[in-house]
Amino acid sequence: MMDIDYSELERYDHQCLDGCGLCCLCQPELDDDELAVFRKAGLEEGLTNYHVQGGQKTDEPTAIKLQGGRGACHFLKDLRCQIHDVRPRPCRQFPVQVHLLRRVQVNANLACPGIFDNTSDRGTMASSGKGGDSLLAFGKETISKIPQDEMEDIFEQAVEIVKEFDEHTLDFEVYQDPGALKDAGTDLINGMKGSDWIARTLAWSNEESIGTDLKNKTFARDVLSHVPEPDILEVANDGNIDLLDQDDLAQIPVFVDDDMKWIALRSRKNIIDVMRMEEDGSLETMHEIPMDSIKLMDWTSDGTEVFQNYARLLNDRDPFMGYVYQVCADQDFQFDLATVYIGTMATTMLDLWWRASLMGMVKGEKSIGQNLAKVGIKSFDMTSLGAPSIGLFI
Ligand code: SF4
Ligand code: SF4
Repeated sequence: MMDIDYSELERYDHQCLDGCGLCCLCQPELDDDELAVFRKAGLEEGLTNYHVQGGQKTDEPTAIKLQGGRGACHFLKDLRCQIHDVRPRPCRQFPVQVHLLRRVQVNANLACPGIFDNTSDRGTMASSGKGGDSLLAFGKETISKIPQDEMEDIFEQAVEIVKEFDEHTLDFEVYQDPGALKDAGTDLINGMKGSDWIARTLAWSNEESIGTDLKNKTFARDVLSHVPEPDILEVANDGNIDLLDQDDLAQIPVFVDDDMKWIALRSRKNIIDVMRMEEDGSLETMHEIPMDSIKLMDWTSDGTEVFQNYARLLNDRDPFMGYVYQVCADQDFQFDLATVYIGTMATTMLDLWWRASLMGMVKGEKSIGQNLAKVGIKSFDMTSLGAPSIGLFI
């Protein structure tokens, strides 16, 4: 019996915004049925065997081409989909993503500017107010359209993958119960009073504790009493240079700004280029920011609230847990899962902080308040949800 968690969608409404088109920069991949439809409709010239995600090639064309090899989908013309009736599943599902690990979880991609937070919560992570239809209803409709046997089949595969992962962590004596990890994450996040939280949490995870007792009531207090990691900016710069320094420009992060322009980020020779991308993949540099001029900006109390809610979101997200599992496996199961979980939470929040600070420099801001924190999340959530994850996406 599959447990389906929709809780992330509950606070949001959604309306696709004219002039956006951001989701048409994500390369859609086709399943066998969709391929057959494309072939019958004579749309094969729009396909490629090169899959941007992971930079892989398949034996035959199974993904839609990007214009200029890195811009919008081949079938987007003047921000209109030319094949709307046969658009593939990822396009029909956006902005929700379906992830399978120990259960099915439906997530909201907060990079989409058409998501509105309908709560009165001050720490909202998307634009405030009602806009369009319930995202929860859309998520349920999305799940209802996935054939039951396909879902069960993929769920069985996910269960096998996570079982194998658990066995490895037990063999290497680094296992932690996922519920205990989330509870510890909640306690820790409740103690977030400002950006200092990241430097202290990172300092704790750098100690690589073994056999952490997550049930210890003083766990969060112990973590947050650590002397802050001093080289936090260097850690942030290094992580982001790796992410943004791509020879293949199809792999660089793109997001949509307040004016509905597509903004791409690239690093080269210690410079961050903030560029405007067009449908055909052409790029125009708007700002060149030397790496050594980047400063991590202070958070206001409103900004802290938004970041705290984003950390809560990560803590509840199964794709994030799957990402932590992937990091643990990539590190050959050498570190206690608690260390990996808390350390990955800290570096993910650090990357978001860095991204918001970069956008703050572009906008001439001095600190990160509520609005800039939301801009950071819009520019970052696609990267976060797209991170390699143990578990499967549909
Ligand atoms: S990202 Fe959201 S608002 Fe933009 S085109 Fe896609 S669904 Fe519409
Ligand atoms: S098929 Fe249509 S909706 Fe999907 S990415 Fe291409 S243009 Fe956008």
